[in-house]
Amino acid sequence: MECKDPPMSKNFPYCEVFGFDKRAIATRLKLMDMGEAQAALAVIFQQKILSCKQKQIIDGFYEQMSTKSEFQGIILHGNFDLSALKRTQAHYIDTLGIDFGSMEYFEDRLRIGWIHVQVGVPLSLYQSAYRALQELMIAAVCEVCSDDAERMDLMSYVLKISNLDMSLAITAYYHTQVNDLQTSLKHLQTEQLQLMHKANTDSLTGLPTREIIKNNLVKGLLELHDHSGSLYVIMADLDFFKNVNDQYGHLTGDYVLKDVANRIRQALRDVDIVGRYGGEEFIILLKNKNLQQAQLIAERVRVHVGSSPINANGQPITITLSQGLACGHVSDSAEDLIERADKALYEAKRSGRNCVITIGC
Ligand code: GH3
Ligand code: MG
Ligand code: MG
Repeated sequence: MECKDPPMSKNFPYCEVFGFDKRAIATRLKLMDMGEAQAALAVIFQQKILSCKQKQIIDGFYEQMSTKSEFQGIILHGNFDLSALKRTQAHYIDTLGIDFGSMEYFEDRLRIGWIHVQVGVPLSLYQSAYRALQELMIAAVCEVCSDDAERMDLMSYVLKISNLDMSLAITAYYHTQVNDLQTSLKHLQTEQLQLMHKANTDSLTGLPTREIIKNNLVKGLLELHDHSGSLYVIMADLDFFKNVNDQYGHLTGDYVLKDVANRIRQALRDVDIVGRYGGEEFIILLKNKNLQQAQLIAERVRVHVGSSPINANGQPITITLSQGLACGHVSDSAEDLIERADKALYEAKRSGRNCVITIGC
């Protein structure tokens, strides 16, 4: 099984990733009751116990662990080289407790924890492995030490050092899990945003849908209550668009609709809102303009759409827009305002099309 690359390539990449500087190390040592007395015991444990019992501990460890089904599944049936694992275990035991207050020690223990996460060892298995190791080391202490006081000290040391190591492994596990969780959450949020955007966007023109524009309109009317701003609505409808479909086909009609949508967007400022109202009709919301400015904008849209032909697959197609402009009043509902803009649009059609008609301003 392959591990991912280590998190970074600085001096103590794992310490950095898991947040262990000198201060955090001191805090953790205090928490685990690891002080000078334990440092002295670490040397005695290495010299007196491990020098003669290392092989017995490792063999006993694998004997105990291989009875566990989780271990069998992950270690024995995975692509693990057992002798390499035993070598790693020997390194772990050889270095157990040596200079445990150093960055190097924390780095090594965090790395071990992190690698176990990467190869998919569950925390429960990791914990039972620690317990097995603890028991074997305590048994070794009992076998070697005849002095009661020293035996008690070394037993207490074994418990404390394995607790420290275990706590670092748990840190690596939870940190990785929290990071994974954060990454999944970010993916989920991005997907949700994309989904929302898709649901709110007309698939042909890329403009906001009628519902979104209506929400904006309701918001704009509420703002009229609060401030002394203004709100204008323009309903814009393509002239004789049916003829385009009839003459060039529906696909070309789609292309023309898309191009018109782009042209309308280009003729507006970013703060102006435009959406596809339905079919070949668009709706524009203008906030905080006066009547003259609103009429000028509508005129700019009209000219930008109609003054040059659209190149639809080599076919030059000229299309014009009729527009109805209405001004929002504090007493209006969204429907009232749209209805007036619609009436104005109807008048624009009656007046010969390709023009802007204003009503109720
Ligand atoms: P007027 O100037 O009176 O508005 O004439 P018009 O032909 O534009 O109006 P009419 O209501 O008779 O026809 C509108 C046409 O718009 C008919 C419909 O097929 C077409 N249309 C609506 N939505 C789409 C679309 O998404 N794609 C295409 N290609 N055509 C569409
Ligand atoms: Mg039309
Ligand atoms: Mg229409």
